Amino acid sequence: MTHSYNYDLISIGGGSGGIATSNRAALHGATCLLIERDPLLGGTCVNRGCVPKKVMWYGASVAHTLRDAKGYGYDVDVRGFDWGTLVANREAYIRRINASYDNYLGSNGVTVVQGAARLVDAHTVAVGDDRYTAERIVVAPGGEPIVPDIPGAELGITSDGFFELTEQPKKVTVLGAGYIAVELAGMLQAMGSDVTLAVRRDAPLRSFDPMLQEKLVAAMTEAGVTIQTGFTAASLEKRGTGIDVTGESGDVLSGQDVVLFAIGRAPLTADLGLDAAGVTVNDRGYIPVDEFQTTNVESVFALGDVTGQAELTPVAIGAGRRLADRIWGGMTGRKLDYEMIATAVFTHPAIGTVGLTEPEARERHGDDVKVYQTAFTPMYNTFAEHPTKTAMKLVTVGAEERVIGCHIIGLDADEMLQGFAVAMRMGATKADFDDTVAIHPTSAEELVTMR
Ligand code: FAD
Ligand code: NDP
Repeated sequence: MTHSYNYDLISIGGGSGGIATSNRAALHGATCLLIERDPLLGGTCVNRGCVPKKVMWYGASVAHTLRDAKGYGYDVDVRGFDWGTLVANREAYIRRINASYDNYLGSNGVTVVQGAARLVDAHTVAVGDDRYTAERIVVAPGGEPIVPDIPGAELGITSDGFFELTEQPKKVTVLGAGYIAVELAGMLQAMGSDVTLAVRRDAPLRSFDPMLQEKLVAAMTEAGVTIQTGFTAASLEKRGTGIDVTGESGDVLSGQDVVLFAIGRAPLTADLGLDAAGVTVNDRGYIPVDEFQTTNVESVFALGDVTGQAELTPVAIGAGRRLADRIWGGMTGRKLDYEMIATAVFTHPAIGTVGLTEPEARERHGDDVKVYQTAFTPMYNTFAEHPTKTAMKLVTVGAEERVIGCHIIGLDADEMLQGFAVAMRMGATKADFDDTVAIHPTSAEELVTMR
């Protein structure tokens, strides 16, 4: 029996994954409908994630540069910092990106509908009373920040609320221990807020290589962030103009202007009508998929944060483009390889990391693992008031010393890693690193001269 559908593809979610899939499928000649519930396209990354975050990080980097200026002979008198100006410029920049997405989708012939999409069956999506059918459906609704179920939680904000702040908070507690917690805590402190980072265990970024955790804690503490360990918030209470956060131990972090929850994100699957289409979710609400992004229903695919794999923009984009290449571009077997995904954490200094941590490598490969590491003061910082060090670690395996982990914390680590990640994906060994002529004088050269 042959079916006739309105479209070849319907994508639910106009974020990194949905947009990438639609554009690539359309370029291969598919007829595409994209449904986004927000008035603005771009999803989390563009509107309340990577992009506004990186702008604020650059803002914080300017604060660091101004602080360092004296060592380079500049007599700089900083008369103030206007949070409002930075936010206004940031939002204007984001509006330009939103518009460029509209234009590019339009020029590729993708139809865009605004509204909340709900699956009706394995080929039909509803938006209000309208129904659309497609041969294939891609579900990419992303996620949202988790708010803890504690008394007074409504007094706190999440990363979404951070990007809505019109004034700089003077005193802030950030609760959480992942990417968002360390990034936002670091930038607020650099811009002049008094910041406490409260983690429930013994350190932030516990899933990262221990060297990165240790050096980040040292750098953040040196920069003035108070790191409170073993603190789990039990309640929030308004007292006068401030907020008191009481921990399970009874400790109180008092008089906060802002309390920011950064304790993880949850997938937006509850209102998608997945049941109606027969699509299953796991106990945390994520949609399980196979290596080709297929759900348990043949015509329905899921990608991006909603699958609970590496929750990063290039991962959502990479999965979507490859899916479109495979289905509409005739590239049989094309799929995203989820191994060796490089990532940066935008702290001060930044972190760049790819591959296995040392403990992961030792668990997997035992005594076959050999580690090289170094720590040094980068030249720029030798003139700075706070000469923060750079630290690097290479994790290798086997007699040929194949590099399976590369971990860097330091100035420019975010920009340093991409090329090394290419080499590692290609199976580079320590000897290949060493045989590569260094670029001098840089920090990156230490990665090819490590003893
Ligand atoms: P999203 O980008 O979240 O897009 C999903 C879209 O679906 C949203 O626009 C949503 O409104 C829409 N939607 C949801 N339900 C429906 C529905 N029922 N109908 C219609 N539309 C719907 N990643 C990086 O790689 N680098 C970074 O520096 C980085 N920084 C980040 C900083 C923060 C503060 C946060 C929160 C995230 C950051 N990320 C970063 C992660 C990155 O934003 C996500 O991995 C990425 O956006 C995932 O893309 P996605 O397409 O899966 O989902
Ligand atoms: P993460 O999953 O990275 O970290 C959340 C952490 O908070 C947990 O690991 C846990 O650490 C801690 N936590 C969990 N529950 C609680 C609780 N109830 N109370 C206190 N602490 C708790 O989540 P994020 O929200 O930071 O970020 C979500 C994802 O977005 C990231 O994983 C990343 O994939 C992506 N992202 C990427 C960025 C980038 O590329 N630069 C930047 C920002 C986000 P512990 O167990 O140690 O307590």
